Order: sequence, then C-alpha cells, then structure tokens
Amino acid sequence: MSMVSETPTSHDQHGRYPEATTVEDVRRNLAAVQARIVAACQRVGRDPATVRLLPVSKTKPETRLRLAHAAGCRMLGENKPQEAYRKWTSMQDLTDLRWSVIGHLQTNKAKLVARFATEFHALDSVRVAAALDHRLQLGGRTLDVFVQVNTSGEASKYGLSPDAVPAFLQLLPAFTTLRVRGLMTLALFSSDAERVRQCFVRLRELRDRLRQDAPPGVVLDELSMGMSGDFEIAIEEGATVVRVGQAIFGARPMPDSYYWPGEPSTQEPKT
Ligand SMILES: *Cc1c(COP(=O)(O)O)cnc(C)c1O
Repeated sequence: MSMVSETPTSHDQHGRYPEATTVEDVRRNLAAVQARIVAACQRVGRDPATVRLLPVSKTKPETRLRLAHAAGCRMLGENKPQEAYRKWTSMQDLTDLRWSVIGHLQTNKAKLVARFATEFHALDSVRVAAALDHRLQLGGRTLDVFVQVNTSGEASKYGLSPDAVPAFLQLLPAFTTLRVRGLMTLALFSSDAERVRQCFVRLRELRDRLRQDAPPGVVLDELSMGMSGDFEIAIEEGATVVRVGQAIFGARPMPDSYYWPGEPSTQEPKT
C-alpha cells in the first residue's frame, strides 16, 4: 500500500480539541494545521500554495473571531446564515475581514447572504440560485459559489446527487451575479479512512469529467473538501479549499448533530 492510502482520519480527536483563548493559541493552531497541509501536499507532489485554508468560526463568539483576525485570518467560514449575518454586522470595524457561508441555505435567507458574503459553498438548488441572484442584482454585488454534491450517499446530507450536477451546472449561467468556482462536499463522517477517501475521489472525478463541458462562465477549478478530521486525505485527493474549525478554534460545545440536523446517525459516539 502506498503511504498516501494509509493517511488516517483524525475523527477520534472530534470534540477534544482544546479551546483557543488567546491570539497565540490561534496562531499556534493555524501554524500546526498549515504544517499538516504542507506535509499532505508533499506526499502527493502538490504545491501547498494551491490549497487554501478556510478557518471555520461557527458557534464561536465574536471575541474569538477577533483573535483569529489578529492572528492574520482575513476570511472566516460560518455555516448558519443568521449567525454569520449577526457577526458580520457587529464586526464591521474589521474592514478587511471577508465571510464565507459554508452551510445549507433556505431561500428565505438568501437575502441575508447576498448582503455580506463573499463566498457560498453550499449551492444545491435552482431556487436558492435564483433567490441569491435576485438579491445580489439589487445590491450590485457578486458571489463566488461552490455547488454542493452529496458524495456519501447518505440521505441526511445536503447536496445534489452526482448525477444531477451536469444539468444543474447548465442552468447557472442565467444567474449572472453567481461566479461558479467549483464543487464542495462533506465526506462520510467515519474513522474508516478508505470510505472517507472515496467521497473525495468521487468529487474530484466528477469535477474532472464536467470541466471540459462546463457552460460559459462556469469554472470548475476549485474543490472545497476536508475538515478538521479529514483535511489531509482531502488534500491528497485534490482539495483546493479545506474548511477547518475545531483544529483552529477548539471543540464546539454541542455534537455536530446539533449543527447539521438529521445527521446523528453518522456521528460516532464521543468518549
Ligand atoms: C463545521 C463545518 C466544517 C468544519 O468542521 P470542523 O470539524 O470544525 O473542522 C466544515 N464544513 C462545514 C460545512 C461545516 O459546517
């Protein structure tokens, strides 16, 4: 077996990452994650500059987000539109801080996202695309978007089935404010590294297949995949954006089923 295929998940760390409470903590955690990104790139001969680390600050209070900014973060990921909007509103003094919404969006929240977000990683319906485009037009803004794909086959996961992606992409040029950058996925939440890897492989192969025939303006350069427990495997399989929360900010107080409704069956029990 190659070294690459032996890279484990670190889902056993889930819920155990120590809370970062100082700017030094955040700096140290960012450096540790960056070092792991570099090592993963080296295993597969990739240039680390082709992988962007997106720190995910969901559930963390504004004071912690300000630490991250002081530590050099200029874009933060949030999965709930209202929470993100509230944080954006109260942190307007940090004029160089940008926001990436990475979680499922309901049509009636598109208005919020269109106001402040720079990126949206979870596009999975025409209705949401239309709602975003409408609001972005009104505000004279554009939005970088990633199409979310369900690569694990779990009914509880959001995202389009891989089969539905080609036709979906064909509809997107109509929404001129949306700049399609690539695909996004959440892998199976499992300590079975091979099955996790298969999710990432599926996303990359889908992207490679669709790239040539992508409609005008739809650019499929990016693969947003990998989080604290599996970002090294994602990088080995081609991730260009890794969304990392706990390994930077510390564990969240509630299990992920709380943030990702409908997913408790995929969670492993915490000890
Ligand atoms: C929370 C979240 C992440 C980051 O998860 P961590 O375990 O904190 O690294 C990544 N992607 C999405 C969509 C999320 O909601």
